[in-house]
Amino acid sequence: QFGDTEAQREVRANDRQYVFHSWSAQGAINPLPIAKGEGVRFWDYDGTEYLDFSSQLVNLNLGHQHPGLVQAIQEQAGRLATIQPAMANDVRGELAKRIVEHSFEGARSVFFTNGGADAIEYAVRMARHHTGRQKVLSRYRSYHGSTGTAITLTGEPRRWANGTLDAGVVHFIGPYPYRSAFYAETPEQESERALAHLRQTIELEGPDTIAAIILESVTGTNGILIPPPGYLAGVRALCDEFGIMLVCDEVMAGFGRTGEWFAYQAFGVNPDLVTFAKGVNSGYVPLGGVVISEAIHATFEQRAFPGGLTYSGHPLACAAGVATFDIFEEEGILERVRDLGERVVRPRLEAMAAKHPAVGEVRGTGLFWAIELVKDPATREPLIPFNAAGEAAAPFNAVVAACKAAGLWPFAAGNRLQVAPPLIISEDDLIAGLEIIDAALDVADGYVTA
Ligand code: PLP
Repeated sequence: QFGDTEAQREVRANDRQYVFHSWSAQGAINPLPIAKGEGVRFWDYDGTEYLDFSSQLVNLNLGHQHPGLVQAIQEQAGRLATIQPAMANDVRGELAKRIVEHSFEGARSVFFTNGGADAIEYAVRMARHHTGRQKVLSRYRSYHGSTGTAITLTGEPRRWANGTLDAGVVHFIGPYPYRSAFYAETPEQESERALAHLRQTIELEGPDTIAAIILESVTGTNGILIPPPGYLAGVRALCDEFGIMLVCDEVMAGFGRTGEWFAYQAFGVNPDLVTFAKGVNSGYVPLGGVVISEAIHATFEQRAFPGGLTYSGHPLACAAGVATFDIFEEEGILERVRDLGERVVRPRLEAMAAKHPAVGEVRGTGLFWAIELVKDPATREPLIPFNAAGEAAAPFNAVVAACKAAGLWPFAAGNRLQVAPPLIISEDDLIAGLEIIDAALDVADGYVTA
């Protein structure tokens, strides 16, 4: 189908005329028409091939057209394409069971949603009904989705233009050793001081008014920020002390991205609620959900939960979710993610950091990494200012353009190139992609002023 310019023209024309796109000035965009996707690659109509180092929106964990996922959806469509949520369904129940069995100690049930943002909405609603409290604390440098409460919880510029859609939300600052807000000199100090700041925030807001603290177990789009030693356990302890529910947002970090089923599992904490989406079925059919603790489930044992969705636990989406668990086992996904992350990605990114003055820091785990670009490695001044656009963002855009010109589709965020390929990527493809990034970093070096 490549080179079919008539087809390409029609795709582009319909898109420009009729499709309203996310996060964009409609007149300022020109979306790339895509003809085909296979594994870790996709192609435009001219046959240009891209190696996808961003797994689309960090959801395509098992790659394009995985035969196991396609077959599960086809079989389910042939059997029972949909059934409303008040009825019991085999794949819905099977997927909920598998998620609970792979979740935290005391996990009891799953409420299915259509995606990540509504998982956040429902987790917060459950925490509020369960505690009888209204406030929810979330961190700066976070993304939780674009619906009312989720966008208000979000701690980055995408919230700004939306105002405050949930008056109960309060933000606090989390750990970020490379750019410590706490003047910390070690990760341990960063943890300790970030926890002291959180304790103070809780005390000043009124512990009895706070229903939940919500955080990305490993921060995704806002920088692949891994909690320093003791931080997550410390947040758990504060939640226990004040009767606050701990909600781990695993929408991006969950389902293998960090080499664990859920990222919080590397830190030995048990949350009260967990939100997931994306990797649960690689986005082949929209699906998200909330994993619910025994105690919160018990609140709604005799009392009705006031909420629902027409497509909660959609059979096509759940069939793909069940297949995801099977594929993870069959292909040893978690083991290979851990292995590739430590054996291939870490040493190569560390070598790039040593070689390129524009690399301020590399950090990550599994197949979830950030390369933070700076103008001056000594002062750590970012390559482009926070929230830069237009001309101010040109140096970073040039690095991204160099990646794309060499056939790599990167995950670009702020002043960072992030590495998040499909978890099925071969070692050869992973190395090839990292080499493209290495070459593109020469462009970034050209902007270093120190
Ligand atoms: N939470 C996190 C951590 C995310 O990364 C995202 C999406 O990127 C969301 C929530 C929102 O998910 P969705 O876009 O499916 O609503």
